[in-house]
Amino acid sequence: MAPVLEVQNLTTHYETLRGWVRAVDDVSFSVEKGEALGIAGESGSGKSTVALSLLRILPRGGRIRKGRILFEGTDLASLSNEEMRKIRWKGISIVFQGAMNAFNPVFKVGDQIIEAIQIHEPKTDKKAALDRARNLLELVGVEPDRVDNYPHEFSGGMRQRALIAMALAANPKLLIADEPGTALDVIVQAQTLKLMRELKDRLGLSMVMISHDLSIIAETCEKVAIMYAGRIVEYGDAEGIFKEPLHPYTQGLVKAFPSIKGERIRLTSIPGSPPDLLDPPSGCRFNPRCPFVMDVCHKVVPPLAPPGKGTHLVACHLYGEGRK
Ligand code: ATP
Ligand code: SF4
Repeated sequence: MAPVLEVQNLTTHYETLRGWVRAVDDVSFSVEKGEALGIAGESGSGKSTVALSLLRILPRGGRIRKGRILFEGTDLASLSNEEMRKIRWKGISIVFQGAMNAFNPVFKVGDQIIEAIQIHEPKTDKKAALDRARNLLELVGVEPDRVDNYPHEFSGGMRQRALIAMALAANPKLLIADEPGTALDVIVQAQTLKLMRELKDRLGLSMVMISHDLSIIAETCEKVAIMYAGRIVEYGDAEGIFKEPLHPYTQGLVKAFPSIKGERIRLTSIPGSPPDLLDPPSGCRFNPRCPFVMDVCHKVVPPLAPPGKGTHLVACHLYGEGRK
């Protein structure tokens, strides 16, 4: 079966007064039906820019300069704004990071979910939309009678659940979660992740989960893309990558935190800092920080390719024939 989402060579830059910020360069990945792909990387690696590109909601200056975003076979990068509006919510929906304030404080939570349903499915009458809002709340583990509550009457965890319910209002095929639960305490975060897993299984949802926290990805995703400075440096089966990371950057991340499934971890453990994406290093963008750097690393961009062993892809000159 064709993947729900297939991103090919996505290149998204931001135009600034100082030049183009090369936030996402030549990024390719796919998501099958019912599959969760995690995108992990340090702050500024381009994860959110990928998510915003998929929905074509980039801020001013942001531009998709190359590549295709095939959603159920249609290239979103070439749709008109009008056509794109039909994809958002119904096709692809997003739960934003730190979105605890996403609800309008002066309207009841239920009314806001009802509005989301009716905007995207105008034929749904008020009664049917109310029933649906109640069902959605129940689906995410919130008492349906809470439709009549205002956002401030919800706890942080409940608000997060209600936001997920709202993102599901128009029955999307693909849900993007950008830093799910970042603002929540550890227990509520774990519950939110459990909910995401359950929803994926129950609804057959495809997901793209974006996080700088490897443990979140390890707990929820079958597949993972590790991003560094706007590029995917390692990609494939999550278990394989966490068990046997191949890229020096991923190795650094995984080694620094041996118990991926245990402690909460942050991807800030590697010495040095990511490059300025206005003028990234030539060749491999990790070369200023890499303990194994070779001559070729300064000159040639390593392709994301099979390493000759293992099942996943890696972009590093240490692997494979013909890479130099
Ligand atoms: P975080 O985890 O902090 O959200 P991220 O991995 O999602 O980071 P992005 O937010 O996608 O990374 O940023 C990628 C790069 O693009 C960074 O260098 C960032 O400074 C730059 N960038 C993001 N938004 C803009 C903008 N509106 N204008 C110019 N540059 C931007
Ligand atoms: Fe290090 Fe070179 Fe591999 Fe980049 S390509 S990660 S610099 S060895």
